[in-house]
Amino acid sequence: MSNQLKDQWGRKIDNLRISVIDRCNLRCQYCMPVLSTISFSDKSELLTYEEIYRIAKIAVEMGVRTIRLTGGEPLLRREIVTLVGMLASLKQIGLKSIKMTTNGIFLSKHINQLKRNGLESVNVSIDTLNPRKFEKITGYPLLNQVIEGLEKALNAEIKEVKVNAVAIAGFNDNEIYDFAEFAIQYGITVRFIEYMPFPGNGWCLEKFIPSAVLKAKLEKKYQLQQEPSIEPSQTSRNYRIVGTDGKIGFISSVSEPFCSTCSRMRLSADGKLQPCLHGREELNIKKIIRNGGSDEDIRQVILKAANVKSRGHEDFLSPKFRRPTAARPMIRIGG
Ligand code: SAM
Ligand code: SF4
Repeated sequence: MSNQLKDQWGRKIDNLRISVIDRCNLRCQYCMPVLSTISFSDKSELLTYEEIYRIAKIAVEMGVRTIRLTGGEPLLRREIVTLVGMLASLKQIGLKSIKMTTNGIFLSKHINQLKRNGLESVNVSIDTLNPRKFEKITGYPLLNQVIEGLEKALNAEIKEVKVNAVAIAGFNDNEIYDFAEFAIQYGITVRFIEYMPFPGNGWCLEKFIPSAVLKAKLEKKYQLQQEPSIEPSQTSRNYRIVGTDGKIGFISSVSEPFCSTCSRMRLSADGKLQPCLHGREELNIKKIIRNGGSDEDIRQVILKAANVKSRGHEDFLSPKFRRPTAARPMIRIGG
């Protein structure tokens, strides 16, 4: 496709992650730095739905095919279902799917309307199946509410429902068989995300556990069969637990980075285009819009963001690695 947006390294950019809010109703320690060190955007600083729609439309015209809504916690943004409906109209000009990553706290409340308005896929973050540990890592005793949201999403027959768990050594690596049983019980994919370093998130080698270790542990008890990748830029390597409908996925962004096939660009809640999750570059697209910029001006910023997208992030496991290079903590970028 000749008008497909590509970055300076020739990678196709067809995936836009839109953070709709940088606040959250949980306090996951691996994501959110201590409150006193973080500043959140005021409402007036957030992109409006009209602004998000305008950027998304131009991005779709340039070749974006998947939009993932994230945050902070996307379901905290008022009338988020309306935004999903607005973005769904972009399917007429080439958008293929609208997805969301959520902590699931408000999923029960919104899932039916989200589905009606065009949401096709939900990733629910659950890092532990133990209620006490859930409270410890998130700050709130709400595991049951999250599981209820997950069950509602499954009952609503959303096309794709997955669970994401950040693997943290000494915290949840002893729950790997419980997660496998959970995947089997619900017939879903549970994906382990390698713990990544971001400013102020307490990352250290001692807390890092590579996917390969988790996979080897799982294979002591289960037979795993690799699933074919659906697309080259897929971040997760998925395995069926043989004889069941449960699957386990590994997102090995630290031990086996997938930068060479990265197809993603990010839009922050406060209106910055972020070409790379771990990079410092941010292009202020909101400023251009609020200064009366034209659609062509917006197109040019998107092109520029693609042109400054770095080839890859540094090796976090190298002895030379000192501190995260990301411009912001994860909660203010959106995973
Ligand atoms: N609040 C929503 C949620 O928790 O799903 C969406 C935003 S959250 C930043 C998006 C994803 O990033 C979640 O799956 C979360 O577990 C993941 N995440 C946050 N910090 C991370 C880190 N340091 N390493 C790996 N994944 C992380
Ligand atoms: Fe909130 Fe999601 Fe970050 Fe947890 S991972 S603090 S739920 S944004």
